[in-house]
Amino acid sequence: MQTKKIQKREKMLDKLWNKRDGFKYLRIFAITISNLILLAIPLLKFARVDLWRGNHYFLMRETTVVYGLAGVIGTILSLYLFTFATNFFLRRMFCGWGCPVGFLGRLGEKVDISQKDKFWYIFHLISGGAFSATFAISIMFWWTDWRILIDGTPKELGIFFGIFATILMILYLHGKKWRFTFCKVACPIGIYYSVVSKDQGFTVYYNDPDETCTGCTACELICPVDLNPRTLDLKVKNTDENAVQEMLGHDYCLNCGDCVDVCHIQAKVRNKETIPLRFGWNNKGRSYKGECKSKQLETESNP
Ligand code: SF4
Ligand code: SF4
Ligand code: SF4
Repeated sequence: MQTKKIQKREKMLDKLWNKRDGFKYLRIFAITISNLILLAIPLLKFARVDLWRGNHYFLMRETTVVYGLAGVIGTILSLYLFTFATNFFLRRMFCGWGCPVGFLGRLGEKVDISQKDKFWYIFHLISGGAFSATFAISIMFWWTDWRILIDGTPKELGIFFGIFATILMILYLHGKKWRFTFCKVACPIGIYYSVVSKDQGFTVYYNDPDETCTGCTACELICPVDLNPRTLDLKVKNTDENAVQEMLGHDYCLNCGDCVDVCHIQAKVRNKETIPLRFGWNNKGRSYKGECKSKQLETESNP
């Protein structure tokens, strides 16, 4: 069952879906690259441990199980080091843009939101299923020679597809139920990124010299991890669901840009050029301090 917070975000996404999803194609591009890397590493024999037939590879050369395993672990560590390096400058940008697990949550939301329209519902079900299947098969190929799909015995194929279906089911449950709650409560990578985040870095910041912000709270409603994007440089107080308590909002922020997107829409419908929420290099002390001028959420152009 969906929590009230998820329902609020979906209601907001539903209202604003077609108005602007400025980062949509950039996000799809980033996640495609991420998935392609996951798939290419075993397919190009860069690193693979073949648990079925012993065709282990590392750096495109056939090798022993020990070197194959060392290659897989080393590759995972290298990928991790890459995301760690990005975290140093770009905070949790990987969470918001490159993580296939995080993206599954978005696909689940798309399915929920499009339920009223049969065509889009089926479309999002199929695209979500295709993404999950690609992700699951990528995981399988790290541990299995893909040629098993061509010349595997019925028993081998049965076991292969049994494991594949199990992974798919877990991914389905994640997209259906856990979504960003997993990011807040349980993901060890996310928790680690939160703790090691630098104080300064590329992030969402709030700056409103022209008093464009109406206090519509759309940015809060849409945030997948329940932050107030206007006060990310302050400590988050109500952190019941966060695995680590009492850190700055910036440390929990996924850098996904949903709040920036929704704020852009709010400014656009009022024909304002200044957008209070933006991506940029964070400078401390920019949090929202004043009173809201209005609590009205604007989704239509003013007459
Ligand atoms: S917290 Fe974990 S699951 Fe969530 S987006 Fe970040 S790395 Fe992915
Ligand atoms: S105008 Fe922008 S910053 Fe202000 S509350 Fe609305 S979405 Fe948030
Ligand atoms: S504060 Fe903005 S960028 Fe950060 S997680 Fe929330 S919606 Fe995404």
